[in-house]
Amino acid sequence: MSEKIKVCVIGAGAAGLCAARHLAGDPDTFEFVLFEKSTDVGGTWTYVEEVGQDNYGLPIHSSMYKNLRTNLPKEIMSFPDFPEIKTDGMDSCLLHSDILKYLKDYSQHFQLHAFIKFETLIERVKLVTVNNEEKWKVDTHELTTSKKESLYFDAVMICNGHYFDPYIPNIHGLDKFNGEVIHSHNYRIPEAFLDKKVIVLGASSSGIDIAFELTGKASHVYLSHNNCRLSIADSDGFTQVQGIDRFENDKFILKDKTAIAADVLMLCTGYKFSYPFLDDNCGISVNDNYVSPLYKHLINITCPTMCFIGIPTVVVPFPMFHMQVQYFLSVLKGKRLPSKDDQIADSNSLIANGTVAKRHAHKLSHNQWAYNDDLAQDGQFPALPDYYRSGYEAWWTKKRTNLRDYKKFCLVIDKKDDGSSSVQVVDP
Ligand code: FAD
Repeated sequence: MSEKIKVCVIGAGAAGLCAARHLAGDPDTFEFVLFEKSTDVGGTWTYVEEVGQDNYGLPIHSSMYKNLRTNLPKEIMSFPDFPEIKTDGMDSCLLHSDILKYLKDYSQHFQLHAFIKFETLIERVKLVTVNNEEKWKVDTHELTTSKKESLYFDAVMICNGHYFDPYIPNIHGLDKFNGEVIHSHNYRIPEAFLDKKVIVLGASSSGIDIAFELTGKASHVYLSHNNCRLSIADSDGFTQVQGIDRFENDKFILKDKTAIAADVLMLCTGYKFSYPFLDDNCGISVNDNYVSPLYKHLINITCPTMCFIGIPTVVVPFPMFHMQVQYFLSVLKGKRLPSKDDQIADSNSLIANGTVAKRHAHKLSHNQWAYNDDLAQDGQFPALPDYYRSGYEAWWTKKRTNLRDYKKFCLVIDKKDDGSSSVQVVDP
């Protein structure tokens, strides 16, 4: 490696900004460039009315809808080294624009703009040998000038987001449906569905949120999913139903054989992990949303100078990015990893050597705190303050039984001088 470690960061959403903040904090060790295809920082928190393609003919990246409020409280969403998400009111669940403002403030506070090349698309990342040294050849495309360049780096941090490539389930007979099929990625406003009968398929955060937003505007909303019945009572214009089996004779046939006619099928079926710029020689494959081979959901085991920030799901993302970035930088700075065989064995344990479905391999949920602590301990940097864990657990418990109106609650954290804290979820 050259004297300073040259790092390429792809994407200026929360993950890429976090990477930049820590790289910029160690200028004696690292020099880096952050490439972002859009005109500003913020990634998916940049709401755009349009769907489809942007001015350059590239797919619109953001999945935000106009009225989106966060499903996590602001008190635990922030980065630990920039903890305050400033807002006018007391609300814990904020509008997407508040989070975008926070990310812009973070970028400004740590003076990151000087390192970012905007409107620059990364088209290819490939491992090459230059003067007997392994380097990452990164093909860039400056969108404003159409200039293309190949640049060489010692390490690559992939922060291109995970909510832009919709997963479309295969529903038998759907080609015969004459109504509208739309993925939540392209959902913007409820008014577009006035007086329509809508089936919202999928009951993760977006499915539940969009179903409630449509209720009262659409003539009827069916929240259809395969999970156990959620604790949401049916109401005027809203019914919770089973998952869809097929479309037949102008009706959706559910798993319990009920038949429903509808005008719109809203797919809230999630996203595919997608890295269209990775050359095969990076050694990474994505199979049923399982990205492998990765050590600690993070480091490319084949070429450990490449990492992916933000792969774990059902987590509190920003603080986790803070931990993942520091761990990867500790490895670049010389922290030794276990042998490749041991890393592979560790990684295979995520799918319990084949007994856990691959698509669940990166789901951490309540295990995220042990994961974050493990990164801190192994990478030898400070653990997250405990209020992230206690705040999340208190929020999660309250949310589970109040799915319809949990966003009106406030999370109150009392941080004590000795570093301890107490948390409470209050109904204002
Ligand atoms: P992104 O924000 O997607 O940023 C990726 C960036 O990479 C983009 O700017 C993109 O333009 C750029 N990029 C991609 N490909 C290239 C390329 N080839 N070349 C150059 N640039 C590229 N999280 C929470 O904490 N709380 C919430 O309440 C919450 N709600 C959410 C609601 C929705 C609808 C969605 C979609 C997500 C939500 N999230 C929430 C999760 C959110 O995705 C994360 O909080 C976080 O913002 C992800 O950041 P990221 O940097 O990984 O990805």
